[in-house]
Amino acid sequence: MKNSILIIEDDIKINNLIMNLLKEEYTIYQAFNAKDGLSLVYANNVDVIILDLGLPDIDGIEVIKDVRRHTTKPVVVVSARSFESDIVTALDLGADDYLVKPFRDNELKSRIKTAIRHSISNNILDADMIFKYRNIRINFNTASVYVNNNLVNVTTNEYKIIALLAKNAGRVLTYDYIIRTIWGPYANESTSSLRVHMANIRRKIEINPADPKFIVTSIGIGYRFNID
Ligand code: CA
Repeated sequence: MKNSILIIEDDIKINNLIMNLLKEEYTIYQAFNAKDGLSLVYANNVDVIILDLGLPDIDGIEVIKDVRRHTTKPVVVVSARSFESDIVTALDLGADDYLVKPFRDNELKSRIKTAIRHSISNNILDADMIFKYRNIRINFNTASVYVNNNLVNVTTNEYKIIALLAKNAGRVLTYDYIIRTIWGPYANESTSSLRVHMANIRRKIEINPADPKFIVTSIGIGYRFNID
């Protein structure tokens, strides 16, 4: 059975463009305003929601909040808003990914594949508690990280950061989200101390820490464990 995608986008041209791009691989639902979109979210068990932020009736940011009260299915924001603050807000509210218009066709396709794989792999992870990607392996039971089958000597905080990003592989996690999740809402940790941890992590797991392949930076926004 095909996975299904709901496109919530008021620009008819763009909505149809996305539909045509994806219709061979996925079952498509289209909505041209937020209210119709939310009704479709509630009525159908769609696998991915593609969401524009500038909608005529309800702002897309409010739509993300409403969707998250109802489902954990991935939300990929496709928006003309390119301010870091908009991207951070959308991700912090539970969007899985963010593409700025105009986007490249292949970029959208690959982000959707990642979003679907991520929502599936979440379930697999709970069962065997092992994360494997290329030459890196993480055992969540024993809190250990291996590169090329060699145990990497990471600190507790470094492990927590790696594990959090790996469990959300493919998604950008904002600096603030990472800090709050690991050190709690009243933590004194800052983005700059997170950067220091990340520099240490990269020295330990990346072949070339200056050109990281596993954990990449979204400048001004956060980090993503890359699984493409
Ligand atoms: Ca719009």
